This record gives sequence, C-alpha cells and structure tokens, in this order.
Amino acid sequence: MGKYIALIDCDSFFCSCERKLNPELNCKPLCVVSSERGCVIARSKEAKAMGIKMGDPLFKAVEEHPNCIYMVANHHNYLSISKQIMYILKDLSPNVEIYSIDEAFVDVTGLVKVYNKNYYTMAKYIQDRIWNEVGMPVSIGISRSKTLAKLASDRAKTTKDRIILLGKSKSKKYLQDVDASEVWGIGGRLTLRLQRFGIRTASEFVSKDDEWMKRNFGKNGLTTKYELLGHSVIPIVNDPPPPKSICDTQSFSEFTSDFDYIKNELQVHIHSACRRLRQAKCKCNTIGVIVKTKDFKCGFLEAKLENPTDFELNISKTAFELLEMMYSPSILYRSVGILLEDFNITANEQLNLFEDQVKKEKSERLGKAIDRIEERFGRNKIKVGFTNKDVPNKQGFMTSPTMIY
Ligand SMILES: [Mg+2]
Repeated sequence: MGKYIALIDCDSFFCSCERKLNPELNCKPLCVVSSERGCVIARSKEAKAMGIKMGDPLFKAVEEHPNCIYMVANHHNYLSISKQIMYILKDLSPNVEIYSIDEAFVDVTGLVKVYNKNYYTMAKYIQDRIWNEVGMPVSIGISRSKTLAKLASDRAKTTKDRIILLGKSKSKKYLQDVDASEVWGIGGRLTLRLQRFGIRTASEFVSKDDEWMKRNFGKNGLTTKYELLGHSVIPIVNDPPPPKSICDTQSFSEFTSDFDYIKNELQVHIHSACRRLRQAKCKCNTIGVIVKTKDFKCGFLEAKLENPTDFELNISKTAFELLEMMYSPSILYRSVGILLEDFNITANEQLNLFEDQVKKEKSERLGKAIDRIEERFGRNKIKVGFTNKDVPNKQGFMTSPTMIY
C-alpha cells in the first residue's frame, strides 16, 4: 500500500486566531500587521476581497481602506493556539511534521484502518476535531506525496468543504490544470525559465524525461517530478517545532549617536542571531531592526529578504539599510537589535531551483565554519562584515575586526 500524506493548513491563521479570541471580528474585513509602524502580514477573506495586499505598509492600507480593522500581531497568542492544533495532530498520528506555525504534514497511511474511515472522511474528521476543540478553520490536502498534498491543500482553500483528496488515479490528470508556478518549490522566477522550455503546466513538467530534468534542474527538479507523480520522496521530518522568531538585542555601555558604533553593535547581534538560527536548522525570510533612543522611544523597520538565509552577510546589508533609514545623528541611542522571522526549516527546505546554488552553498559552508571555530575557540572570535571602526572590547571580543568573505 502506498503512502498517504495530509497537509493541514489553517485558513488565514493570524486573522482566525484574532477572531477566536474576539468573535465580534467574524465576517468583518480584518488585517493583522507586524507592528504599529509595520506592514500587513495576514488578511481575512474580506480584506483580500478589498484588494489589500500582503506586505502593504499599515499607513498605506489605512489610507486606502479605512473600513478594514487592523490589529497588531500577538505572536504569543498565535503560538499557543498553534500548539493546541499540533497537539491534536500528534494525538492522531505519531508521524507529524510541523512545517510552520500554521501548517503540518501528517502521515495518515495507517490511520484509515485505526479510525475505520476512508481518506476523505479521515480528513473531515481531522478538520472537525480542530474546529470543535480549538475553533480554527483548516484546509486539508491529502495525497501520495508532500508536494501533491501541498498542492491539494492550497487548492482546497477555494472549495466549499476545504478538503481535496488526490488519489492515485486522479492526480495524473489533475496536473494538466495545474500551473507549474503553483507547485511547491517552483517559484515565480523558475516559472519563467520553464516557459522558455515551453513548460506551462505541472503535467508538462512531469512529462520531461529524467535525463533532461537532471541536466536542466538538477536533483531537486527530479525530486519534484517524482513527488508530482505520486512517489513519496521527501520524507516527513519529526523534529521539534522551530522557534517562531529570534531576537537579539542589548543596551550599549553608554548612550551614543555614533553610527559606526551602532552598526558594529548591530553586526554583533546579527551574528549571534544567525548562530541560533543555524542551531535551530532554520532560515529566515524576514528581518527587522530595532533601535531604542535614550528616552525609550522605539524604532522598528522590517524587510523581506530575496531568498531565505541563515548567513550573516546575506542579512547585514539589508539590516544596515533599515538602520540607516531610522538613524538620526542628533539622537542619542541606548540599544540596537535584530529580529529574524518567517522561518523555513532547513531540513525540509524546498528547492528554489533558481537560487544561485554555488553562492548559497558557499554561505552555508562559511556559516558552519564560523560555528565550528567558535565552538573551539570561544564565542565572537570571528567577525563577519564589520565596518572599520572597532567594537568595544567586551566579553572577549577581539579589538581589531577580522574581515572574511
Ligand atoms: Mg495557512
């Protein structure tokens, strides 16, 4: 008997959490924003219909859509609701992979016998249990591989009962109507490259022979092809849940307006946060920079990165730009910090087939090398991408910066 995998995905998770805590918000247009000066990070169905986009700055959204309700994210609440859902899934199956705060893969292969159900009614049972016990609406895709389950769950969102079962006989035909860009791991940029080969649908993608696939899209392309054909190639990883964000910040030894000093301090925090990110086997997609002034005013700006990363230099350029946007030479600052968010788990990293693999591997090797050096010689014995101004000699920092890369 082949494998069957379900992807359970909460519908507009942050908004649904807010509604669970405050039912008056039901059926109203609602956006969750990252901070009071941040951007839209979740939208209810009604807010989507108004045309509000993910990543829209709050001030712009309020200006254009004053009738929508905007709430600042409360990640603590979201995490606790997420835990309740994952607890139910783990109660159902020993093989659960928490893919993100609101998504999990569940191996349901043996469950149908245990619960005396078919795969569709099994999905319905999971959906009902999460609704009845937690009050969270979820969409579920069930199929023979993670890639197909993900596709099914994405599409299930627009169906009435929010469940799609892609069985063996159905899935091959199904791929004819699936745009290649919809497939997990094939992003917008790869779609363009596929189009140059005349490939528009998932069905055309899987029709290419292995030789061709390997030559043009490497091992990852081949994995995606077989996953789409219903072979379970990417395993379910039962790791503990990753952190939802990593924040690293500390007050300066004295108030300062010195930009280079603040920048170097920020670099120290980026390094420390990246080390924790690598330990958690995660990569981040979004970063934020936090500054606090002498009189406790707080500045925060965030940006989405082009590619997920766990490497200092891929983060510092954007972080420095954010810092520069907030910095004023006439202000005395008390602290600076970095926030890493929106994680991918490295172990189930899906192929962005278009990312510069050589550069990516180089960053990964360097990151690991830094961690090994520090394990051996102590923390902060190596520094990445510093400006030429020395950082204060605290906790055994070297006083002359070592440039690498
Ligand atoms: Mg979701």
